[in-house]
Amino acid sequence: MKFKYVVVGAGLSGLTIAERIANELDEEVLIIEKRPHIGGNIYDSYKEGILIQNYGPHIFHTKDKEVYEYLSQFTEWHEYVHRVLSYVDGKLVPMPICIDTLNKLYDLDLDEESMKEYIANVKEDIGEIKSSEDVVLKNAGRDIYEKLFKNYTEKQWGTSAANLDSSVISRIPFRFNHDTRYFEDKYQGMPKEGYTKMCENMIKNNKIHIILNTDYKEVIDDIEYEKLIYTGPIDYFYDNKFGKLLYRSLKFVTETHDLYSYQEVAVVNYPNDHDFTRITEFKKLTGQEYPNKTIIMKEYPGFDDEPCYPYPTEEYKNKFKQYKKLMDKENDVIFIGRLAEYKYYNMDLVVKSALNAFKNKIKE
Ligand code: FAD
Ligand code: UDP
Repeated sequence: MKFKYVVVGAGLSGLTIAERIANELDEEVLIIEKRPHIGGNIYDSYKEGILIQNYGPHIFHTKDKEVYEYLSQFTEWHEYVHRVLSYVDGKLVPMPICIDTLNKLYDLDLDEESMKEYIANVKEDIGEIKSSEDVVLKNAGRDIYEKLFKNYTEKQWGTSAANLDSSVISRIPFRFNHDTRYFEDKYQGMPKEGYTKMCENMIKNNKIHIILNTDYKEVIDDIEYEKLIYTGPIDYFYDNKFGKLLYRSLKFVTETHDLYSYQEVAVVNYPNDHDFTRITEFKKLTGQEYPNKTIIMKEYPGFDDEPCYPYPTEEYKNKFKQYKKLMDKENDVIFIGRLAEYKYYNMDLVVKSALNAFKNKIKE
């Protein structure tokens, strides 16, 4: 087989770059994907008539107009603003922290000014922020850390927030207002017909060829190519030369309930109860109407399933740097995506990274 471009991985990063190669350069491109479907972790499918996201809840949100307009070529959007509640001390409180969180959690009646005073009294005097634990202690103090962040983070990552890079919990804002949205981005929503449909639309070009159910290492020696675009785990690419990188994974367990509605909002977090981190009710994310039945998903973190998250500790950041030196020397391989770049990318940044790689390393 001969293809000028071969893409490893049919996740959002691989599909974006393949779409650009086929539609802008009018070149043939082969995608090799080890799973039985396209979309990677954004894959969704119907179960008992209800659209579920097989690898956990995905809400599209971005500040980036280019990314929003790029994906809008392949989908219309269901207008959805994500709101999360966290189950703490028998109450459901808004997450991220805002005035309403504290009022509900502590039975208070704070406004913006009095919340500032409250936080000023409880926050800890941490100098330089060195970890995710420091982020919360410095912004909101120990009780909020212990009630809302400590145990959730230990479940999610299998280690204390004190060992995790500050960037992890810095994803969550602290607000002195009544804004209970999870994301503040200008553009947010869900693909109207789902992510898989959006992905299918991205690769509707007969110059794009796909082989599913195949690890690229099984076939790559039989393919002649000029450029390889790799979106899989970077340690695997280099045969674990510097040792394995850690990727956190999740086990996703769905339940069907004969109810119209299971919970108040699409996602409820359980920091201190159960082994799972959160429950997602899909109809509330997608806006799908379905009488007397709903499907929920519980997420159990571990290390044994599909790699989901790069592991943001010093040890693995340093190990990745060793791989990065090799990556930078490659002329015929382009590395993009969450697993290859070992970055905690949201979907918009994955698309951005693929579009930039296309512009700077392929089109040039
Ligand atoms: P992936 O989707 O992992 O794709 C990589 C592909 O490569 C996979 O299909 C894999 O099977 C394939 N592959 C790997 N190795 C090989 C091999 N050897 N041979 C062939 N194929 C291979 N982002 C948001 O913006 N909003 C959200 O709400 C959000 N929620 C999330 C919730 C969860 C539970 C998770 C895990 C992630 C979430 N994300 C969210 C992030 C989002 O999933 C990623 O940014 C995005 O899917 C990454 O795309 P990717 O192509 O880089 O990686
Ligand atoms: N987090 C937490 N409690 C929560 C929600 C999040 O402690 O109720 C922490 C946890 O460490 C998590 C991080 O904040 O990994 C980032 O949360 P986010 O929702 O951005 O993670 P995602 O699910 O998008 O990866």
